[in-house]
Amino acid sequence: MVFDPSELARLAREKEDENLAFRRHLHDHHDDLHLLHEIGARVQAAFDCTQCSACCRETRVEITPADLTSIAAFLKLRPAEVRRMYTESTPDSTLLIAQPEGHCVFLHRGLCLIYEVRPTPCRLFPYLTPRESSLGARTASIWRRAHFCPIVFETLEQLKHRTGFHPKH
Ligand code: SF4
Ligand code: SF4
Repeated sequence: MVFDPSELARLAREKEDENLAFRRHLHDHHDDLHLLHEIGARVQAAFDCTQCSACCRETRVEITPADLTSIAAFLKLRPAEVRRMYTESTPDSTLLIAQPEGHCVFLHRGLCLIYEVRPTPCRLFPYLTPRESSLGARTASIWRRAHFCPIVFETLEQLKHRTGFHPKH
């Protein structure tokens, strides 16, 4: 498994053509969500995300009113204060704000300051669970995540092996 972020990004870039071929291969032969979930769950169980936090540096998190209430209770603040201090609104959603370098506002020295009440998207990431509706629909996002998430990268590599994919296909 690749842990180093720059090495992972380099390998993911190197595999872009291969991954595109694999996406076609999956579409033609093996759009097998069960296998993706099985491998993803095993890889995820073996990895300690607290040693990584790359997704907290690479993604923006949308929160719900229930998330806002939980975070406020955890921080002993009013929901309106949490909204004002830690979120921004778009026409469609409420997002946790990002620090100047792009990290989530709650990421501090590689750790989540609200881990116990982290929003649902943080709990579900990297979305290799049965909640995903279809591999085809999510493939583009899955491959984007492979550039920074060691779990996704490893899962896709194992999926290639299990489905008999070879780059020259
Ligand atoms: S809320 Fe916590 S887990 Fe979610 S992105 Fe921010 S730092 Fe990461
Ligand atoms: S889900 Fe992926 S990117 Fe996020 S902390 Fe875990 S391994 Fe790192």
